[in-house]
Amino acid sequence: MQKAAQARRAGGVAYTLYRRRVKNINLRVRADGSVAASAHPLVPAAAVDAFVAARADWVRGVQAQLARRAAGEAALAAALPDKAEALRHFTALCREWYPAFAAQCPGGRMPRVAVRDMRTRWGSCSLRTGTLAFARRLCAMPPAAQEYVVVHEFCHFAHPDHSAAFWAAVAAHLPDYRARRALLRRQPGTAAPPGIE
Ligand SMILES: [Zn+2]
Repeated sequence: MQKAAQARRAGGVAYTLYRRRVKNINLRVRADGSVAASAHPLVPAAAVDAFVAARADWVRGVQAQLARRAAGEAALAAALPDKAEALRHFTALCREWYPAFAAQCPGGRMPRVAVRDMRTRWGSCSLRTGTLAFARRLCAMPPAAQEYVVVHEFCHFAHPDHSAAFWAAVAAHLPDYRARRALLRRQPGTAAPPGIE
């Protein structure tokens, strides 16, 4: 009887072999860099070793890429201000823009400002709680881009969508918003997030 998972090494690659009723030998590198192979119980372990050894360069390439990405993200995180400082920063920025949006803010009040470790969005707007939230890593972006995100989120109080009317409102406050938005697509050390809002 074979064990369900077995630690092995082939071609300099440490991997875990899983016995499953799969048709082919499957090999994958997990997000943490560990390597997993799965093969049918009838496939000899030596055949899986040969399969892994033949793909050792590919495995090392993927692992190196994962390590570079992790190092880039760690460097970026270390360079960012802490949450309290980021919150002071975005609160000050929102106070500057609030007078232009006071009529549209819930209750006419200055919104609550929050900073979160968001990875897929630069900011968000909650009409229900009257909160504007910003990604901490937005601090690493140019001030012109930060200002664009602040205006973008303020505009959501009047337009909770990305309709033509919404973009017209953004353009009314920041005629050069397209150039500012383009700055958000370049962030060293991380993959650009899919959206900004
Ligand atoms: Zn939006």
